[in-house]
Amino acid sequence: MRKVVILGAGMAGMACARTLLRRGCRPLLIAPGHDVASRGETLSFRASPYLESLGWSGLLDAETAIACQGRYSLWGRAALRRDTFHQESGWHIDRQRLEQRMAESLDADGVERLSSEARRLSRSPTHVAVDLADGSSIEAEFVVDCSGRSAVTSGSEAQLRRLDKLVACYGIFDLEDEAEAVPATLVEAVATGWWYMSVMPRDRILLGFFTDSDLLPAGLRRDMNLWAHMASQTSAVSARLTSLGIDAATCAQLQFAPASTVTLSKLMDDRIVRAGDAASALDPLGANGLATALWSGIQAAGSATGLLAQDCTAFRQYERQFLEGIASYLVTQRAIYASEHRFPDAPFWRQRNGTSLEGI
Ligand SMILES: Cc1cc2nc3c(=O)[nH]c(=O)nc-3n(C[C@H](O)[C@H](O)[C@H](O)COP(=O)(O)OP(=O)(O)OC[C@H]3O[C@@H](n4cnc5c(N)ncnc54)[C@H](O)[C@@H]3O)c2cc1C
Repeated sequence: MRKVVILGAGMAGMACARTLLRRGCRPLLIAPGHDVASRGETLSFRASPYLESLGWSGLLDAETAIACQGRYSLWGRAALRRDTFHQESGWHIDRQRLEQRMAESLDADGVERLSSEARRLSRSPTHVAVDLADGSSIEAEFVVDCSGRSAVTSGSEAQLRRLDKLVACYGIFDLEDEAEAVPATLVEAVATGWWYMSVMPRDRILLGFFTDSDLLPAGLRRDMNLWAHMASQTSAVSARLTSLGIDAATCAQLQFAPASTVTLSKLMDDRIVRAGDAASALDPLGANGLATALWSGIQAAGSATGLLAQDCTAFRQYERQFLEGIASYLVTQRAIYASEHRFPDAPFWRQRNGTSLEGI
């Protein structure tokens, strides 16, 4: 029987694997072979101490990251300003490439990986059986579920709350040789949601639109002219596209991803501990998911080694800090949405600014 099996090789799973190894426990990392697509993510400055403690600070180089000079927003009023909620910056990352580097570092550490997908977990008093996509099964004393938003264990006994129906649609554009993009994030609120623009390493730009799934315009999946029309209705985003010589209609492919806020009230079910988005997935507006994934992966590893020695102190502390962090994040998120009051009758804003946070 394995001591610890980790499900998922995103930032949470990989941070967990490296921490376990450093604590003398050799985990088995199970994840499907394919990479998670880059979405022009900003890695918060909060990730710095976690990357340092994992020995991964050096992975942020010209191939994987660009230092971010802040965030500008057209939010709450019709003038562009530097975002007071994001005074501290971080890095615009090529998430796929950064995760590849982390994976290479784990390979060099000798972390055992299995390219598969967990389909079902069955608990017993002594172990967890992980049923895999190929029909085989692996037993472990503890499982750390880092399988992201589609978490294998969410919705089981843990209390799950889905707070909205946010989805992201986004496209990536190559910059012309002469175009110089400011390494800063741009966010613009519109009646139906908000736009996001950010530079990516290797001369690319990400343009994203966030709205609720039931407000997505019909036909957007296939109609680049509709996408370009929507972008042209913005103010700062459209000006920045023009200044960079980007025609939104030339986007090779629009991609869609769920981006709703989903919280859990428990981080452990018997012998299964959760980390990263599998423990709670947040609205990307705060750009904090990756730092939380790293932190919680490290904490979940500490919890698992404690639990193997029948000591739940580390887990209790992890769970308390995680849940307190989520509660405080939700208060901030609510304040940011509440600071936009130009569209009081628009369903997107009514849904957010009328929601109660009681009980979170
Ligand atoms: C559109 C969008 C934009 C975002 N922008 C930002 C941003 O700018 N900054 C930021 O900090 N955060 C951002 N986030 C959030 C961030 O991407 C997540 O919080 C972060 O990736 C969570 O990391 P994770 O390791 O928990 O999960 P993931 O990165 O989702 O990794 C999950 C892993 O589990 C694997 N897996 C899935 N199912 C199974 C299974 N059944 N068995 C085994 N393995 C499985 C997957 O293949 C993957 O390896 C954004 C999210 C979205 C949707």
